[in-house]
Amino acid sequence: MVLAQLGGSISRALQQMSNATIIDEKVLNECLNEITRALLQADVQFKLVRDMQTNIKKIVNLDDLAAGHNKRKIIQQAIFNELCKMLDPGKPSFTPKKGKTSVVMFVGLQGSGKTTTCTKYAYYHQKKGWKPALVCADTFRAGAFDQLKQNATKAKIPFYGSYMESDPVKIAVEGVERFKKENCDLIIVDTSGRHKQEAALFEEMRQVSEATKPDLVLFVMDSSIGQAAFDQAQAFKQSVAVGAVIVTKMDGHAKGGGALKLLLTKSPVIFIGTGEHMDEFEVFDVKPFVSRLLG
Ligand code: GDP
Repeated sequence: MVLAQLGGSISRALQQMSNATIIDEKVLNECLNEITRALLQADVQFKLVRDMQTNIKKIVNLDDLAAGHNKRKIIQQAIFNELCKMLDPGKPSFTPKKGKTSVVMFVGLQGSGKTTTCTKYAYYHQKKGWKPALVCADTFRAGAFDQLKQNATKAKIPFYGSYMESDPVKIAVEGVERFKKENCDLIIVDTSGRHKQEAALFEEMRQVSEATKPDLVLFVMDSSIGQAAFDQAQAFKQSVAVGAVIVTKMDGHAKGGGALKLLLTKSPVIFIGTGEHMDEFEVFDVKPFVSRLLG
């Protein structure tokens, strides 16, 4: 389901409840049933939806609320809080610290926005006073190094790569070594992404990971891929220890269903990409996300 559709359905249910002259059990139940329907349609697990409904009813005890209480507000707040709880991402396995060298390896399928996101992530930290550097260990896609080089040059971020060398492990190790010597505190390694979850891709990722020993493996996922997202994330997780997730293309026509599914699995989403430009990149925070969802 398109994320906007889910948000629209929930907002409508809340609006209908707000329009009622008196808020009684019946009105509250109708509102909750509408929300339940929308969430189930968005493939949210039955148990999660049922728990949410039970919690809201516990919080909003209409009999206990005195006449003066603003029931609408209390119900809306309870629904908002429950949605936030449901979509709250897990914690990343590791958070780099400014001034201490960290190696962050980016993985994801081709076209997910991995290379673009590497630079966005570097640029975001550079603006905060970090000393990032980019290593292009994608020797599979023709043009990957040029793309990274171009982005890095634009953002004035040091980069490492090769047109000649075809071994991604060698490049990754050399790049990481060089930038460690240069005292960079955030060494970002971009790896190959391919169309399918080929065994060769996973083997290559595993080798690069073993050779560079990243402190954090970041999985980049396109938000518009919907249903396939979960399986894809699982397959990556089995090959390398994915520590956090960045969801791209949350802007414009993105359907966002993939993001929803990821959040429901408590995947630690830490940033979202909201456009093609370097600065169209935001820290992920569940409250503004749910606010936006509800319009
Ligand atoms: P890679 O193959 O995973 O390295 O993907 P690229 O970084 O080359 O990105 C693929 C396409 O997605 C490019 O056209 C990017 O400009 C675009 N892209 C990446 N992130 C975003 C985003 O957050 N929003 C939008 N609209 N486009 C994005």
